[in-house]
Formats: sequence, C-alpha cells, structure tokens
Amino acid sequence: MRAARLHEYTHDMSDGLSIDEVDKPQVSGSSDVIVEVEGAGWCQTDNHIIEGMWEEYVPQPLPMTLGHENAGTVLEVGEEVELVSEGDQVICHPVQSCGTCRPCRQGETMYCENDAFNGLTTDGGFADELHTSERSVIPLPDGIDPTTIAPHADAGITAYHAVKKAEDGLNPGDTAVVIGVGGLGHIGLQCLESMSAADIVAVDLKESARDLASDLGAHYTLDPESDDVASEIEDITDGVGAARVLDFVGADETTQLAPDICAAGGDHHIIGYGGHIHEPAQALVNGEFSFVGNIVGRYAELQELVALVERGEVTLHTSRYDLEDVNEVAQKLENREIDGRAVITP
Ligand SMILES: [Zn+2]
Ligand SMILES: [Zn+2]
Repeated sequence: MRAARLHEYTHDMSDGLSIDEVDKPQVSGSSDVIVEVEGAGWCQTDNHIIEGMWEEYVPQPLPMTLGHENAGTVLEVGEEVELVSEGDQVICHPVQSCGTCRPCRQGETMYCENDAFNGLTTDGGFADELHTSERSVIPLPDGIDPTTIAPHADAGITAYHAVKKAEDGLNPGDTAVVIGVGGLGHIGLQCLESMSAADIVAVDLKESARDLASDLGAHYTLDPESDDVASEIEDITDGVGAARVLDFVGADETTQLAPDICAAGGDHHIIGYGGHIHEPAQALVNGEFSFVGNIVGRYAELQELVALVERGEVTLHTSRYDLEDVNEVAQKLENREIDGRAVITP
C-alpha cells in the first residue's frame, strides 16, 4: 500500500515526506483494528514533526508514516474485538492506550504510560490503511462522513479539551478571547459558543479568518496588525479583562498579551505552540492569572465531541487533497494559505 513517510527531519517542507510502497498492516493482537483511511487531517504538528521538534520529547522510529487525525472504515479486527466489526465507520483517537495503567484507570487516557500515538510514535494515517486498537476507535453515527470528521481526532478534541477546561468558571457576562481562528481555533470557537454564554472576542491577522469567526458566533473580531488588542479588550470588558484566553497560536507575540488582557484570576490557555513565555513572575502575582497547558483530549472527550457534531453544533471547514499532495499541503500551511483544515484522502 502507499504511505507518506518521514525519513529524516528537515526544515524544507517541499520534500518532507516521500510516498513509499510498504506492507499492509496486519492484525497481530486480539484487540487490533485495521482501518481503511478515508480522511486524515493535516496538522501544524505534522510540520513540527517534520522539523524534528518532537524528537526530544517522544521516541520516533524513522522512517515513520505521519497522520494522527484519522477516520475511515474498519477492514479487519482481532478475535476479541466487540465494539466494531468489518464495514463500520469509525474515527480514531490518535492514542492507543493500554487500559490498565493508573492514568487509564482514571480516564486520563492521554497520560497513558504505555501508549502508542499514531503518526507521532508509530505509523499514522497518511496511508491506505491504519493499524490501531479497539480502545482507540469510536463508531460514527449514521450520516457522519469519515472524511469530513477526521480532523476532530486531534484538532477537534484538542480544541474541545481546552474549551471544556476553560468553560469551567466561565460565566454569562464574562469574556473569552480566542486567538487564532485556524484549524483548531475555528473548532474551539464553535465549542465555546455552544457550551458557554460568555462574550467571545476572536483575534486573527487574516481577514478571512475574522469573517469566519463572525459567522461562527464571535461577538467581536480584532486584527492585531491594526487594532491595539489590549486596549480593545479593556474597552469591551469595561476594564475587567478576559476571564479566559484560548491561545491557538502560542507565539511570543500572543503569550505576551496575557498580563494585559487576562482578568484577575483569569487563565491564558496555551494550545498552539512554537513560541516561548517570558513574562515577569510579578505579572502573574499581581493579576493572579495562570498559564494553562493543554494536550489532546481523552477518548471520552472525543465521544462528547462526536455528539456535538451529530447535533450540528460544530462543523469543520475543510479542503481535500490527494495523498500525493502531502508536501504541497505542508508548504501551504507553512505559508498560512490554508483556511480551516486540510484533509488528505488516501
Ligand atoms: Zn494534530
Ligand atoms: Zn494506560
């Protein structure tokens, strides 16, 4: 079968991955599930993996097939699998958790001590077929297209997970700021709109992203190039500041907004990454705001997100590409030429 594989780390996105002919994955364990990939979302993390940014954080056996936002149709299952059978359509949580370690027992499947992560530590879904397990697949409700929903497997639950944390303590009348209305941000904004009654301010450099934010329910939009974001938010909140900031960019320019835009006791959630946090400790003491880290949501949160999608509360803005176009997609994302999410259709 075909697979888009990373052979060595590079900053040249024009030839990051190569399309190789590889053996099809086989059922080897009793809980294995083999999925014919119908959609695999391309993520900023894929660019970061190609650049080698994850090398020191996780084991990465190269060559490795990337792609962690996968959905498709079940081809074959191990003998003990009961949740799904051949022909079922599924979305695949990227983490194959063990189910028996303490974090798994607590439902924190993202902290699993024995996990394999498709497209990050083991082969992913930029390929005709994907090897995963019963613990990672969620059957799709009728009428939900796997190609369309695929990016929710990571982009979606990461955004949902952050919003679910941020939404706790976010009251009607409070203000939430969404920085970056791209692949994750446009999902987070819809989750926020559906789960809270806060006023939503969306911040993005691109006019098309600000227009999308307005369409999806943002009450205010700001252009950081022409607007003074801190003083605009001060005006919008009558000097209180934002109770929650959801930073889907995570660049130096966005993390440094925190002391000026967070309300006393507020949280600045870091979801996008790439930049650094350089704030004086005193700024956190004075405002008692917090920086909050976020990783991919757990399995149960993907079920919750699928329920929101089924209700029509969250829709994905996607564009589709052939497997052969992976490097073109990587370049376009690097140049901020992709609105919403690119989905590879092997
Ligand atoms: Zn991702
Ligand atoms: Zn575990």
